[in-house]
Amino acid sequence: MEKHHQFSLWYVLLGVWAVLIIQNILFHFFSIETIPYSKFLDLVHEGKIAEVAISQNQIQGRMIAEKGGPDGPGKGKQFRTVRVDPEISQLLAQNNITFKGEIESTFFRDLLSWVVPIFVFVGVWLFIMRRMMGQQPGFMSLGKNKAKIYMHEDLNVTFDDVAGVDESKTEMMEVIEYLKNPFKFTKIGGMIPRGILLVGPPGTGKTMLAKAAAGESGVPFFSLSGSEFVEMFVGLGAARVRDLFDQAKQKAPCIIFIDELDALGKARGFGNMGGHDEREQTLNQLLVEMDGFDPQIGVILMAATNRPEILDPALLRPGRFDRQILVDRPDKTGREAILKVHLKKVQYDSSVDVEKVASMTPGMVGADLANLVNEAALLAVRRNKEKVFMAEFEEAVERVVAGLEKKNRLINPKEREIVAYHEMGHALASFFLPGSDPVRKITIIPRGIAALGYTMQVPTEDRFLMKKTELLNRIATLLGGRAAEAIIFEDISTGAHNDLAKATDIAKSMVKEYGMSEKAGQVYLSPEKHSPFLNIPGMTGTADYSEFTAEMIDAEIRDIISKQYETVVDILSGKKDLLKKCADLLLEKETIDGDELRKIIEAF
Ligand code: ADP
Ligand code: ZN
Repeated sequence: MEKHHQFSLWYVLLGVWAVLIIQNILFHFFSIETIPYSKFLDLVHEGKIAEVAISQNQIQGRMIAEKGGPDGPGKGKQFRTVRVDPEISQLLAQNNITFKGEIESTFFRDLLSWVVPIFVFVGVWLFIMRRMMGQQPGFMSLGKNKAKIYMHEDLNVTFDDVAGVDESKTEMMEVIEYLKNPFKFTKIGGMIPRGILLVGPPGTGKTMLAKAAAGESGVPFFSLSGSEFVEMFVGLGAARVRDLFDQAKQKAPCIIFIDELDALGKARGFGNMGGHDEREQTLNQLLVEMDGFDPQIGVILMAATNRPEILDPALLRPGRFDRQILVDRPDKTGREAILKVHLKKVQYDSSVDVEKVASMTPGMVGADLANLVNEAALLAVRRNKEKVFMAEFEEAVERVVAGLEKKNRLINPKEREIVAYHEMGHALASFFLPGSDPVRKITIIPRGIAALGYTMQVPTEDRFLMKKTELLNRIATLLGGRAAEAIIFEDISTGAHNDLAKATDIAKSMVKEYGMSEKAGQVYLSPEKHSPFLNIPGMTGTADYSEFTAEMIDAEIRDIISKQYETVVDILSGKKDLLKKCADLLLEKETIDGDELRKIIEAF
């Protein structure tokens, strides 16, 4: 909801206040003292009345002016009384009072006290309505979406502007090929992705990437944010979705981009008792539209989210957002490339070491780096320099880092160090244990929510059988991270919980399913059985072995794991120096690939 759409309470209060003021003024204007009829009669008898006007049910009049009275000579105090006795003309005549009959006319008073407030109200109402409509002309377009149509000319974002996310760009290429010539694709009968989900932390350039895809292929770009769909009027969000797709179909081939898909596509389910009907309706409409449009016409839907795990599974089904492109935090080389893109816009001295700036900014994303360059340029201006120098960059880094740390978006250096040793522990363990899968890549760039770093191992060939030693080595490798932490820091962290879970799973299978434990023997101790009709998650079934066997299984699992832990501690404590060297390199470069690591180890 945008600001000018807000129905402000102030306008209402203003209206009420105006009405009150007007009535108050009118009251004072017409205020004449009302006296009791008996007092009026007394006044008549005392001869103090100058003249009266008698109407149907009231008498209004003026008293004889008192000498030196506040109303001046000739002008007595006005009064009014409710008429009780219609037969008073005699009395009046006896007392020498001029009197006349009068037809009561309250027209002007009514006009002022009722019609004017109504006018004020209508005025305020019209004013509010006009504000609420904002730029939208008239009521009828209430459901029209606010998607801006970015035509090719004013988009001018190209792939060159998006740096440091090469893998994501490669994946995007296919889409561009298709959009450039949709008919070539459809003639061969190629399958074109319908929905592409860009997944990654905020500020990594997801929006830019989508724009660049439109820019590169020269097609219109419709963009809308998920939170904009969720409107204040029920049913409007769904209308917007419909309208967006109608517009897009007319402009095909084109790209529709929905930012913050999670605002709209949160999983439906328990917990939100009513209240979110609007969002749900909008989401349903989106699903309907996605299923409904003909993939041949060339409309590609892209959406961005940093929380794919909370999305409604219906959105990720085949034919919907079935392709995901990861837009990750850039590593050091990536950051260098991004800095260079943004440095094009500022004058900087040739002494500025871009690589060094990149190495000072671990964990930052594209948006942070753009901000950093801007900050450095501002500092240079403040210092009356003609160019930006290294000093400004150094100070800008400090400022940006401080800001991000406050928002908890950077890992602190100590944690980074622990993560580096942990990951190196995995890598070295796998390197020195015979028969483990070779390490492909080690990184300490945080990804997703849980992993602070990871070591990627790729099997050399497809495997259908695993030997006992291989399984044991795999467990040892998984425990390598924790072992390295224990050896170097003489303390352990929570970072290993995922490794422990995996290691325990393998050990459990060895004992219960593969018959690889001596004590348990060559038996298959089936996992807990569920009744096929009672497949309720979280409900454990009954095991068909005794309590005693269960205890033995637990002991065996623990035994396997602790033996492997000892093995890996043995290996790593003999290689402390190598571990240190590799961890330092990892801290510096953030990502090391397998070949590089092999060379270092062989040269050591
Ligand atoms: P997201 O959509 O992932 O939150 P944006 O695409 O909106 O991020 O990026 C915000 C800004 O950050 C961009 O306008 C751009 O200046 C800068 N930026 C982000 N990623 C990159 C990148 N990979 N290369 C260059 N600039 C980037
Ligand atoms: Zn680990």
